[in-house]
Amino acid sequence: MSETRIKRGFDVPLSGAPERVVADAPPPETVAVRPVEFRAVKPKILVKKGKQVAAGQPLFLDRARPEIKFPSPGGGEVTEIRRGPRRVCKEIFIRLASDEPFLEHPSHTPARAGSLTRAQVVEILLDSGMWTSLRRRPFHSIPDPESTPEAIFIAASDSSPLPFDAKLALEGREDDFQLGIDLLGKLTEGDVHLCLTPDTASAPVFSGARNCVKHTFTGPHPAGQIEVQIHHVLPYRKGREVAYLDCQDAAGIGELFRTGRYPVSRVVAVGGEKAPDPKHFRTRRGVSVDLLQRGRHSPASTRIISGSALNGRMVSSACGLGHYDSKFSLLPEGDAPEFLGWMRPGLDRISRFRAFASSLIPPKKPRIDTNLGGGVRAHVATEIYESVCAVDILPAYLMKSLVIQDIEEAESLGLADCAECGLCTYVCPSKIEFGEIIERGILEILEDG
Ligand code: SF4
Repeated sequence: MSETRIKRGFDVPLSGAPERVVADAPPPETVAVRPVEFRAVKPKILVKKGKQVAAGQPLFLDRARPEIKFPSPGGGEVTEIRRGPRRVCKEIFIRLASDEPFLEHPSHTPARAGSLTRAQVVEILLDSGMWTSLRRRPFHSIPDPESTPEAIFIAASDSSPLPFDAKLALEGREDDFQLGIDLLGKLTEGDVHLCLTPDTASAPVFSGARNCVKHTFTGPHPAGQIEVQIHHVLPYRKGREVAYLDCQDAAGIGELFRTGRYPVSRVVAVGGEKAPDPKHFRTRRGVSVDLLQRGRHSPASTRIISGSALNGRMVSSACGLGHYDSKFSLLPEGDAPEFLGWMRPGLDRISRFRAFASSLIPPKKPRIDTNLGGGVRAHVATEIYESVCAVDILPAYLMKSLVIQDIEEAESLGLADCAECGLCTYVCPSKIEFGEIIERGILEILEDG
């Protein structure tokens, strides 16, 4: 097992970390998917309102690559297809049937699965929709089934604020996880890498995993983020492509081959100052925070984020969990003006810049909300971005090249290495949305092919 210490980064001390226990969530009535969340996918919707669907049945496919299908997270009736500007499909809601139908695929014993060829494994993953659980680096889009990744990485750690506990999620799923690793090994000519932190490395499900190369990462966030971990194991170079996925999805691949059914179960963490019941829940894909918190949170004063508070997506309280996410972060909205806020010493504030008195007397319970603490202002050239960036790039120069739309220059400055961790946005004293600028640049590259 290799050990890597990540030196640069920053731990944002959000309060309300999810308790390390798993509770059974009540069964949901409705689940949802968000076609807009898939990068570089132009969805062609295959269902209509009122149609009955089985769990695992394709709801939409990618127009450019029709073999990539996106499965329904539940069986029942399509109750709503919510569209945005230019009729872009934003969300599809499915009311679950009491006797939920599943799309059946062939099931395999571990021995039979072991004799499958790469082409057969790819075909089953594409047919079942599980192929969509894979993403490629660089640029985090769904990999092309035709290309063979140099390696496959499994994420089993989380260092972002309000961390999700991967070892809780895989308790009792050791066999499916091992089968998933073995099948993933068929998709690459290189190794399957399992990325851990000291906390997850000791869990039997990970320490006992075979046929994979294990790595442990320590240090401040984003030490536990898979894109950063890949950067330190197989740094990007032109033509190199690797694939990665979450450990729950790796176990899901094992479950799919064992049972012949699309795996709908998922452990989901809910945390944050505004979460009335911060813990891990055994539930299923596409559930809403309304269900997990039994409606006890107050949506009007809460920012609900699917994923990490630093780089997740804002969602409504009825909207489903993101396809790649394992947690909801519930933060206080910072929309109330603070009278003479600029004069206050900030004893309860956190500042990377040491701009507040709290840097002398650290607060026991820092006040962190979504308030930017000021408007966008001229960019100040400092080394604050470099001090938190855990990959070997210069974020300020990268951002400048993207702002003037010099994509070639951005690529030469390491756009492909960016882990999109969101830290440069968080620490930016000029309140510049680095994350949006970086994402726009990446989308431009993906659209140009
Ligand atoms: S450039 Fe910003 S978003 Fe990208 S890895 Fe560095 S800190 Fe994270």
